[in-house]
Amino acid sequence: MSYDAIVLGLGGMGSAAAYHLVSRGLNVLGLERFGPAHDLGSSHGESRIIRQAYFEGEGYVPLLLRAYELWAELERESGEKLVHLTGALMLGPGGSDLVQGSVESAKRHDLPYEMLDAAGISARFPAFEPPAGTVALHEKNAGYVLPEASVRAHLDLATRHGADLHFGEPALDWETTPAGSVRIRTQRNVYEAERLVVTAGAGAPEVLSGLGLPLRVERRVMHWFEPGVAASRIGLGEARRFPVFVWSPEEGEVFYGIPDSTDAVKVAFHYLGEECSPDTLDRKVGPGEVEAVRETLSRYMPKLSGRHVASKVCMYTNTPDLDFVVSLHPGHPQVAVAAGFSGHGYKFCPVIGEVLADLATAGRTDHPTDLFSPARF
Ligand SMILES: Cc1cc2nc3c(=O)[nH]c(=O)nc-3n(C[C@H](O)[C@H](O)[C@H](O)COP(=O)(O)OP(=O)(O)OC[C@H]3O[C@@H](n4cnc5c(N)ncnc54)[C@H](O)[C@@H]3O)c2cc1C
Repeated sequence: MSYDAIVLGLGGMGSAAAYHLVSRGLNVLGLERFGPAHDLGSSHGESRIIRQAYFEGEGYVPLLLRAYELWAELERESGEKLVHLTGALMLGPGGSDLVQGSVESAKRHDLPYEMLDAAGISARFPAFEPPAGTVALHEKNAGYVLPEASVRAHLDLATRHGADLHFGEPALDWETTPAGSVRIRTQRNVYEAERLVVTAGAGAPEVLSGLGLPLRVERRVMHWFEPGVAASRIGLGEARRFPVFVWSPEEGEVFYGIPDSTDAVKVAFHYLGEECSPDTLDRKVGPGEVEAVRETLSRYMPKLSGRHVASKVCMYTNTPDLDFVVSLHPGHPQVAVAAGFSGHGYKFCPVIGEVLADLATAGRTDHPTDLFSPARF
């Protein structure tokens, strides 16, 4: 069977790529190892932070601005509410990389923000009890996006536009042919296409083994806690009184939280991940892991440290500099690659889908993606 393009992996990035490719009139096949919007990769767990003041690098901001437009477009096309704007707080000691980096990128790109000191933070956002010396950048135009629902929205729209999406069908291997097309073998079939887009998430080290990318897959755990006080006392469930947050109380230590339900908050560490692979990932969460988060909460957000509701395991696929890899394959220009989203990729899904559609159809993109070149390693 022959297609214009095959998308390998239909998670966050692949579902968006399939949608953008088929919207441009291509005959698209999508191959996914598991089911639609599954919870065995990196795009599950109810919520993902979305924000524009970007401490990870001001070079991401133009892509974020485009991602916001595309999220709104996806909401319109699917008729679903996918983005919830709660505002965001980036907290830490004044000079911390997290706060400084957020301020610099906001200044550089003229993003609206406000600075708060420790007293100002807890006066406005009663769940937060920062030590003296803490400052925060508050950004209104931030919040969270729903990963499962938006993967489903991209997949449904792709199908509606005519994409052929196969679930429960892992790709075993791929090769380019002497005629310049790409051939993929699965357990069920062999497919050929003019172009291949690889969006295999934590499967990238295996699917792209020939490329030798220095990727490290890490196990990460998300935990949901109910507050130990009435939700109304800490503004939970009220727009704007309980924002999403990223907090670096000390250099090298980062935790974050998302009020993704009216009675619980998702909290996780943004560091301390053990190396794993999709096949060796330990999905059990030990009591010690829950206690470590509770201890951090009791120190900085004690009113939130009530009943532990649930935990879920996820994977980060990290590059050494934590910047993404989005590019044509250096050895095979008919293959576009998106990998190494290093724990901060979800908010970019629709714009990465657009970039991949550019690369697969035109061999280039106008979006600023030099930062993501594999040649840097
Ligand atoms: C706990 C956690 C919290 C996060 N928080 C945030 C956040 O707040 N904000 C943010 O922006 N980002 C966040 N991220 C990061 C973000 O979720 C990821 O960067 C993003 O989901 C990666 O998408 P992906 O498409 O690369 O991977 P995935 O969504 O995992 O998709 C890859 C797909 O490829 C499939 N696949 C792999 N190999 C094969 C094969 N051989 N054949 C067929 N299919 C295959 C997999 O089954 C999977 O469905 C977080 C991640 C985690 C784990």
